[in-house]
Amino acid sequence: MKGLCILGATGSIGVSTLDVAARHKHLYKVVALTANNNIDLLFEQCLIHHPEYVVVVSEANAQVFSDKLKGSAISDIKVLSGAPSLEYVATLENVDSVMAAIVGAAGLPPSLAAAKAGKIILLANKEALVMSGDIFMDAVAQSGAQLLPIDSEHNAIFQCMPAGYKSGMQAKEARRILLTASGGPFREMPLDQLINVTPAQAVAHPNWDMGKKISVDSATMMNKGLEMIEACILFAMNPDQIQVVIHPQSIIHSMVDYVDGTVLAQMGNPDMRVPIAYSMAWPDRFESGVEPLNIFDVRRMDFEEPNLDRFPCLRLAYKAINLGGIIPTVLNAANEIAVEAFLNEKIRFTDIPLIIEGCMDKFEVSPASTIEIILETDQSARVIANQLILELSK
Ligand code: NAD
Ligand code: MG
Repeated sequence: MKGLCILGATGSIGVSTLDVAARHKHLYKVVALTANNNIDLLFEQCLIHHPEYVVVVSEANAQVFSDKLKGSAISDIKVLSGAPSLEYVATLENVDSVMAAIVGAAGLPPSLAAAKAGKIILLANKEALVMSGDIFMDAVAQSGAQLLPIDSEHNAIFQCMPAGYKSGMQAKEARRILLTASGGPFREMPLDQLINVTPAQAVAHPNWDMGKKISVDSATMMNKGLEMIEACILFAMNPDQIQVVIHPQSIIHSMVDYVDGTVLAQMGNPDMRVPIAYSMAWPDRFESGVEPLNIFDVRRMDFEEPNLDRFPCLRLAYKAINLGGIIPTVLNAANEIAVEAFLNEKIRFTDIPLIIEGCMDKFEVSPASTIEIILETDQSARVIANQLILELSK
């Protein structure tokens, strides 16, 4: 029986994780759930899974949540608030596995705490890894933590790696990764129409049902940029060993090209419960609740090279990883701010890469040698990105 902590339980990944956990109650006990705001959903989840702890980050919402618990059948749940409580529950003695599914930089401190504490980390929160790279991987190596990627592409790559492979290892016989991408909702939209794209259009992903931020990232392909950086870190590869491939059907979730000419691919229906169940059952397998793939319904699979004029965010991600140091942190922070501004209708879709590049240009390359430097860079990049947004709207 493994103890499970879900950071970001109320999000798209958190909900899918609880769905899988509910199918395997004899293997997983939910110890802690965390949420930012959505206390109604959190309460429903608590009624079903009865964790020992919940963290509601906002203090006011934590109070409302505690009041809801009073007199209920689950009034013994301990309610904590504040960001440091996320680290506390991620490192509890009786937590074996931590699902890191908070969106954005906010997930870095608790995910890193879990890594330092030697937990099994199921990592969905790609932004944390993009920011902290070597520091995160060193923490994993030193504590003996096990890092299992949840991002469907990285989970696919992990599954295609040689037997006994662990995240961070260099698989010498693997010469290239083919990182697949759906291309998002605007893959075929005429370029001059991108300027008028609305938030509602951008979050309507053709194949995946996800949180708003990652949906916009998929539309700009910054998601693939972040994933390219994530792949370099997880699989100890250079950016030029990672080829992004647009595959609109999202049936192949990525491929590994070996020195002998073998290309291994992992396939399945586009449902995050597949990588989640894989990682929860690892090194075994168990049921995820996902329908079997009907290959006859798929009928055909297409592959094309991404057009960097259409997807400048992808180019910026290559620029950031090639510059290195703190620049990927700047890229990530500026992207988070720009996406939020777009969702709040303060900037246009096509302004997102302009804000990010403008922000990147304001930073000198310097080493991301400590977590303090990374968090400070994150904060200052947010300030600069917000200034650029103000200037743009003048
Ligand atoms: P989401 O927006 O649906 O959920 C985010 C979760 O994080 C919620 O539980 C929310 O309460 C919590 N949260 C948000 N801000 C927070 C803060 N400041 N402090 C603490 N908690 C906070 O997002 P999602 O789609 O589930 O994505 C989560 C992560 O997984 C992201 O990093 C995303 O890139 C990654 N991911 C998601 C998918 C997917 O299919 N949704 C696929 C691959 C990777
Ligand atoms: Mg992905």
